[in-house]
Amino acid sequence: MGKLDGKVAIVTGGASGIGLATVKAFAEKGAKVVLADFNVEVGQAKADELKAEGLEVSFVQVDAGSEESVKNLVAKAVQLYGKLDVIVNNAGIGSLGEMHELSYDDYHKVIRVNQDGVFFGTKYAVQEFLKTGGGVVLNTSSILGLVAEAGAYPYVASKHAVVGMTKSAALQYAGRNIRVNAVSPGYVVSGMVNKEALGEFYDGLVAKHPIGRLGNPDEIAHAFVFLAENDFVTGTVVPVDGGYTAQ
Ligand code: NAD
Repeated sequence: MGKLDGKVAIVTGGASGIGLATVKAFAEKGAKVVLADFNVEVGQAKADELKAEGLEVSFVQVDAGSEESVKNLVAKAVQLYGKLDVIVNNAGIGSLGEMHELSYDDYHKVIRVNQDGVFFGTKYAVQEFLKTGGGVVLNTSSILGLVAEAGAYPYVASKHAVVGMTKSAALQYAGRNIRVNAVSPGYVVSGMVNKEALGEFYDGLVAKHPIGRLGNPDEIAHAFVFLAENDFVTGTVVPVDGGYTAQ
């Protein structure tokens, strides 16, 4: 089954898109997975579906932008499965609009989930890893953590921060058997990126990817499996982006 067999993993934003695909990919590799999401109805339903397929998946509600809530999530995972080996800090929200028109609340709403969420998830997971002798932190950044785009100021800021936070934590804990890596997906068809939601803007996004299509969530989950299993990789940000950032 490989290195994920018997491991305990948390995936935030696990009810949809990249998170859901990662929950499934980890569970199919034999991991016991806590599908953590803000959305109770969908999160519970997805966990039940995967359980019915014979996979070990439990739902726990979390608000990734709340320190108390993330602390509680990590405690619940340990309570459920006895330990924690991997956390995927994946929950994230988008932003649109001109920077000079954003209120502090518009700005901070995105930073709170995308950036603070990575801090909280990393902090409480590392506290567990230090007790048990090691673990893996995986973060979802974005191509917009590597290059910028107009009209997404808080999102770009938060995803660039995730790159720095990944490298900083990786260096801090490299000698303590804790690895920290990130994936930077190109545009991936998901809850927030789809033809219905984006209309004519969708074809423009496709055109920005040299490979001529958007990604699918399984292609991002595949990178998370690699990063979870390969013990020599830390402090790395892996673009999975159809050539977007090669341009
Ligand atoms: P999605 O909208 O399909 O899923 C996001 C999930 O996160 C939802 O289930 C939602 O309920 C949950 N969520 C939102 N706020 C939350 C919170 N505060 N606490 C807990 N859960 C919360 O999105 P996706 O496209 O799969 O995005 C997942 C991650 O990938 C995000 O960090 C996003 O920024 C990043 N990303 C997405 C794309 C893309 O094109 N889809 C590209 C690059 C990066």
